[in-house]
Amino acid sequence: MKEKPIHAPMTQFPIINGELHIGGISITQLAARVGQTPFYAYDRKLITERVQHLRNSLPKEIHIHYAIKANPMPAVVQHLAGLVDGFDLASAGEMKTALDTPMPANRISMAGPGKTDNELRQAIAAGITINLESEGEMRRVHQAGEHLGITPHVAVRVNPDYDLKSSGMKMGGGAKQFGVDAERVPAMLKELDTLVLAFFGFHIFWGSQNLKPEAIMEAHKKTFDLAIRLSEQTSNPIKSLNIGGGLGIPYFPGEKRLDLSPIGDNLNQLLPRLKTKLPEAEIVTELGRYLVGEAGVYICKIIDIKASRGEKFLITNGGLHHHLAASGNFGQIIRRNYPVIIANKARSADTEIVNIVGALCTPLDLLASKMALAKAAPNDLVAIFQSGAYGCTASPERFLSHPAVVEILV
Ligand SMILES: *Cc1c(COP(=O)(O)O)cnc(C)c1O
Repeated sequence: MKEKPIHAPMTQFPIINGELHIGGISITQLAARVGQTPFYAYDRKLITERVQHLRNSLPKEIHIHYAIKANPMPAVVQHLAGLVDGFDLASAGEMKTALDTPMPANRISMAGPGKTDNELRQAIAAGITINLESEGEMRRVHQAGEHLGITPHVAVRVNPDYDLKSSGMKMGGGAKQFGVDAERVPAMLKELDTLVLAFFGFHIFWGSQNLKPEAIMEAHKKTFDLAIRLSEQTSNPIKSLNIGGGLGIPYFPGEKRLDLSPIGDNLNQLLPRLKTKLPEAEIVTELGRYLVGEAGVYICKIIDIKASRGEKFLITNGGLHHHLAASGNFGQIIRRNYPVIIANKARSADTEIVNIVGALCTPLDLLASKMALAKAAPNDLVAIFQSGAYGCTASPERFLSHPAVVEILV
């Protein structure tokens, strides 16, 4: 069995006496405290440090919003409410989580295609800003506002007329279900002026999970240029400009953590022109994965170990129903291993090449393929790193009717 390339160690979590520690607690003790495996553990100190690192690296004019869809666990959102400048929502369910925190409604916005009339009414009544995804949605927001006797706060989500050269998940440019094509925006703004809507500005989202500083810098430049061009099409002042997010985290061999310093320098260079052209604009970057992804670990337990035709399988009580992304079935084109260790034998030099699978009756339920890991035994704990974003929330928990996973913030 040929070994797949191994990862750089995930240095954000210390290993003491061979045991992974999360929030200063050994993994064995933490599992006893939770009372069950599998579970997700998120480290609040790492989330705090990540926001601080962003603030230290980006110009102070850039406001940081958390995109809740990356990890909507209420305790995580509550923790972030005290750290970031605002929240971005993608559903009324997320709106409830956000409004249960001290974050003021005027620092919350909602995006997403397919907002129902009921969701729009909820958002208007709450006083949050709706990022309009189409002309039709704009008219429905106007009607809902009239009905409620409240002037809705809106911004126009723009599908940019550029896309990113390099990797990452594209969410703008070309034909997309997100936002309004940049070339349609001038006509939309004309119509918007005839409706009872408080217009705040633009939301320009170009992509996600990008690890190339040059690509992000180019996207920022093009986003600023596009916002300035579009602002010339309206007599309303631009009070808010959301420049998207897109900052990625490393998952796979060869990927490195983003260096924010060139991105910060580039923004510092771009800001003076923007401030001249859009003097009232508050600039926002919205991030999900970058804020929480590295702070989370998924833990499951080895139930059985078996050999099959020359390969060894560690069979766990976890699986893709809790962690679809680690199985490679959430947007990966070629399946690659997430960083995985045997969490209670993290320093063992006695290794072997194994597959780690979940408990589901499907061959898709693969958590690690041909990785060199410490020789494990039943009841040992498997840790999957980089699991704080799009882990639990992006998984088909009801598939095969196994027990639900528990989430904790340590
Ligand atoms: C998903 C999403 C985000 C968050 O993306 P990350 O890659 O997690 O940072 C931000 N804004 C919008 C509109 C989104 O749909």
